[in-house]
Amino acid sequence: ADPGRPGLGALLEDLVRAHRPTRALGSVPGSIPHLAEVDHTRFGIAVAMASGEVFEAGDAAVPFSVQSISKVFSLALALGHDGGSGLWSRVHREPSGTAFNSLVQLEAERGIPRNPFINAGALVVTDHLIDAVGDASGEVLRLLAAPSGRGAVNEDAFAAELARSGRNLALAHLLADLGNLRNPADAVVHHYVRQCSVEMSCADVARAGLFLADDGVGPGGRVVSPAVAKRLGAVMLTCGMYDAAGEFAYRVGLPSKSGVGGGILAIVPGVCAVCVWSPRLDAHGNSIAGAAALAELAERTGWSIF
Ligand code: GLN
Repeated sequence: ADPGRPGLGALLEDLVRAHRPTRALGSVPGSIPHLAEVDHTRFGIAVAMASGEVFEAGDAAVPFSVQSISKVFSLALALGHDGGSGLWSRVHREPSGTAFNSLVQLEAERGIPRNPFINAGALVVTDHLIDAVGDASGEVLRLLAAPSGRGAVNEDAFAAELARSGRNLALAHLLADLGNLRNPADAVVHHYVRQCSVEMSCADVARAGLFLADDGVGPGGRVVSPAVAKRLGAVMLTCGMYDAAGEFAYRVGLPSKSGVGGGILAIVPGVCAVCVWSPRLDAHGNSIAGAAALAELAERTGWSIF
């Protein structure tokens, strides 16, 4: 059911027409003032094919805040450094069923976060990566920007979010208290918020995510082993959309990772990486228009993995 190359460009244009928001439905996160300023009618979508071609439509060339999409890349780096053996004793691989920034579960489960894509788990990944490479957020930015040469931290957004990081600091201190943080809480939160503040376009995020769809090989060469790429896809499918992962697997059927900047990176194993962006979010923190567009894309291409 592959729509074929000429068909894919037209399909993406259809999705822009159908899903670009006209009204400011949904919400934007209060803890990141910068995101509230983004025009609610923004909608971009890009598909990076394993063959090297990139299809783009709508605002696919406009940089947006990647936020939690960066968590896939920090996890890829952390697993690349120790194959996962050390990391997987510090963070589980189960869907959380609670909000991405929840504190409750972390205390109940004695400091071992449910998965690496909720904030508590991502902080552990960042801590792990600091031990491995030092400049954790710098390495995440380098990995994100490698295929395109584009991507940068928005310093204003970074400073504003860092100044409002009470909840992430609380998570980091709780992790430390429960014996699951090696570096100072403020250093870990600094690197974590910094990697979230990277801005890139849909087209460039899709290029950066292609290694996840292509057995660990990206446009610039191998990023992770085929085994790690497979595991990253599994964690994306089960945990990438927070407490809506089950619903998203049902509607779309693709391993995906969302961010509160309104972006979603989705993987079609062996075929392509898709990035869609539209800033308004549902109650779980996932892009409303982005999720709807991915559901239609999966429907019309037959790309669901099921
Ligand atoms: N920087 C955001 C936070 O820590 C990222 C959250 C997200 O994208 N879900 O709250």
